[in-house]
Amino acid sequence: MYLTPEQLAEIKKSIEDQRQEILEKLNQRNEEGYEPEVRGDEADIANSEGIAMTMERLQSRDVRLLKKLDEAARWVESDDFGYCESCGEEIGFKRLLARPAARQCIECKQNEEQRERGYYHPRPRKPPKPLHRDEDEDEL
Ligand SMILES: [Zn+2]
Repeated sequence: MYLTPEQLAEIKKSIEDQRQEILEKLNQRNEEGYEPEVRGDEADIANSEGIAMTMERLQSRDVRLLKKLDEAARWVESDDFGYCESCGEEIGFKRLLARPAARQCIECKQNEEQRERGYYHPRPRKPPKPLHRDEDEDEL
C-alpha cells in the first residue's frame, strides 16, 4: 500500500463528504417532487416535461454516483484499494482524493474516453508491475 494512514483517512473523509452531498441533493429533489405541468398550452407542457426528464436524468446520475461511492467506501478498506483496475498501477493520492469513486488511473481513464469517442491512440506505457504488498503491510 503506497498510501499513508493519514492519506487513507483523508480519502475516507472525502468519500463520506461526497456521499452526504449527493444524498442531500437527492433528498432535496425528492422533496421538491417536480410534477410535470398538465395544464397550460402545449409549449408549457412540453417545457415542463423536458424539465421533469432532466430532473430524472440528474437523479439517476446521482444514484449511480452514490452507488460508486458506496463501493469506494468498501474498497478503501481492502488491500486492493488505490490500484487501477485496468493496469494495476497506483491511481495516486490526489486523484483518489478528488474522485474517490475512480477505479482507474488517469491514463487508463483517458484511454477509455478516447476509445469511446472513437479515436484510440494509447500512449506507450510500462507494463503493470506485479502487485506485491507483503513487506509494507505493517504500515497500515
Ligand atoms: Zn491504469
